Amino acid sequence: MGSEANSGPESAPRASENVLAQARRVRMLILDVDGVLTDASLLYGRDGEELKAFHARDGSALKALAEAGVGIAIISGRTAAAVERRADELGVRHVHLGCADKAAALTELVTNTGIGAERMAHVGDDCPDLPLFARVGMAVAVADAHPLVRERANYVTALPGGRGAVREVCDLLLFAQGRWPRAR
Ligand SMILES: [Mg+2]
Repeated sequence: MGSEANSGPESAPRASENVLAQARRVRMLILDVDGVLTDASLLYGRDGEELKAFHARDGSALKALAEAGVGIAIISGRTAAAVERRADELGVRHVHLGCADKAAALTELVTNTGIGAERMAHVGDDCPDLPLFARVGMAVAVADAHPLVRERANYVTALPGGRGAVREVCDLLLFAQGRWPRAR
């Protein structure tokens, strides 16, 4: 990953200068759900509804990132009421669910926000995320992503999906943009 260029306390996020330069330009963070905001488990309730386990520390970091002026979007291949509820809790306004073609959702997001894909980062774990990796300015794979996805990422998190990977990405973006550590 190149030189670990940033200084600061030991707890500060670490990344190469290239990755920090990419992170500095990000104005929109796009998240996959299964395997990124969750550990990829698909749990079904009594009536067949999908249940999801989200990570509380991901949520607090996403709120801080939004306060820093970075938009948050969700692009998922599946549809679940639990995701809509979590997005609502986190104030995520750009929610694209049931996307057979994630690239089409990205095009829609660019149109709706006026933010170019090169100023967006995407966090993914599996092959449907690769078309987004090819277009965004910063491609991030979670630690336990499919090997092809890790190979094509600009940055691979140390933590796995659903276990703080999103928190790690938020901290890195905040750090690169001079807003880390946060006051709370
Ligand atoms: Mg996924």
